[in-house]
Amino acid sequence: MSKTITDVVCPFCGTLCDDLIVTTDDDGKKILGVDNACAIGAEKFVHSSDHSHRVTRPRKMQEDGSFKEITYEEAIEHTATILAKAKKPLMYGWSSTSCEADSVGHEIAELCGGIVDNTAAVCHGTTLIAVQNVGIPSCTLGEVKNRADRIIFWGCNPAHAHPRHMSRYSIFPRGYFTGKGAKQRKIIVVDPRPTDTSTLADVHLQVEQGYDYELLQALRAAIRGEPLVGDVIAGVPKETVYEAAEILKSGRFGVIFFGMGVTQSLGKDHNIDAAICLTKDLNDYTKFSIVAMRGHFNVTGSGQVLGWQFGFPYAVDLSRGFARYNPGETGAIEVLKRQEADAVFVLGSDPGAHFPMRCVKEIARLPSVAIDPHITPTTEICDVHVPVAFVGVEVGGNCYRMDNVPIEARKVVEPPEGMMSDYQFLSAVLDRVKELKAN
Ligand code: SF4
Repeated sequence: MSKTITDVVCPFCGTLCDDLIVTTDDDGKKILGVDNACAIGAEKFVHSSDHSHRVTRPRKMQEDGSFKEITYEEAIEHTATILAKAKKPLMYGWSSTSCEADSVGHEIAELCGGIVDNTAAVCHGTTLIAVQNVGIPSCTLGEVKNRADRIIFWGCNPAHAHPRHMSRYSIFPRGYFTGKGAKQRKIIVVDPRPTDTSTLADVHLQVEQGYDYELLQALRAAIRGEPLVGDVIAGVPKETVYEAAEILKSGRFGVIFFGMGVTQSLGKDHNIDAAICLTKDLNDYTKFSIVAMRGHFNVTGSGQVLGWQFGFPYAVDLSRGFARYNPGETGAIEVLKRQEADAVFVLGSDPGAHFPMRCVKEIARLPSVAIDPHITPTTEICDVHVPVAFVGVEVGGNCYRMDNVPIEARKVVEPPEGMMSDYQFLSAVLDRVKELKAN
């Protein structure tokens, strides 16, 4: 007979939906169905449950570029040895795993004098810098559902990247003070292109590519009723800017959701400084909050754990025996570009697919280990690939939603026989590094 598991957490995007219903076969090995998830979330569960295409044992690259299976014990020894020998290993990723695993990995980095960086390096690192500059008036997604009647999506497209965000929290749900759901909300989308999210908007501010900062500052001026210079600001007619400002001021509770379209476009952290100041200005007229649309399901948790352990959320350099933080100098991309690292360890991300080619070549040149349930561009250029159980499917663990709410991900099926979790693997590496450092 099949089993039904309720309140399952989806380990795909930063929305961390926690209302999934997963049906498994009676011995808890195969997932038969997933209810409530979006297509990408459901696919992660179904795909992980099909073991026929998975690598289930560590693999070591041979001289001809092919891979040969090795044991977990050999992989632990190899990883511990390269990290213990290295003077400045880069330990990157940490966003698609649990906080518990992050914590152990950071301890290894501290012992080895490494650089610890997470995927904020290529997404919301600029947000973290802006928050340190000007603070952040934020709220939970539950407050958005129950209170928000003005929503801005700036530089993000949740219809594709966070598919249930709009139905669970931001546009459609009926909450305590938002009983009419979407009818009660006004939506503003800021994006240079028409998108599936902008089709749902009351106002689409089609900002000129790279001019978000100008539009943010124009909105701040328009909210205060100050005159705007010129008929068109950042590609948007002046009247539309005033119209948007009035919509925002007339709400009872509003929120700005923003994504990589504004964090990684021209202006970077200065754009987010301005977006946070816009939120602050709006609080002179109504209640307003701002929330980053985080991508990987636990990238927020990775920043939290780094914050508890070292005081900084990403790009932490431990090579001098204490924590240094200077994004632009101590981040993974800069360290690889300057050829400063002498070993690379990747877990819970895929820099081989997302980093500049110069950095990818550097990873391929250095002694390297990649920990990932999948075969990815990164695992294909690293010396050793260690497959691990899927966090949130085959092993539980703590994760943080995009609004910094911690949620415990659940195990729903057994991993392939004999497969380690990343927490188990890292713990074994940590023990071995301690032994090697003691000798
Ligand atoms: S919106 Fe994100 S967390 Fe929710 S089901 Fe889809 S992929 Fe999973």
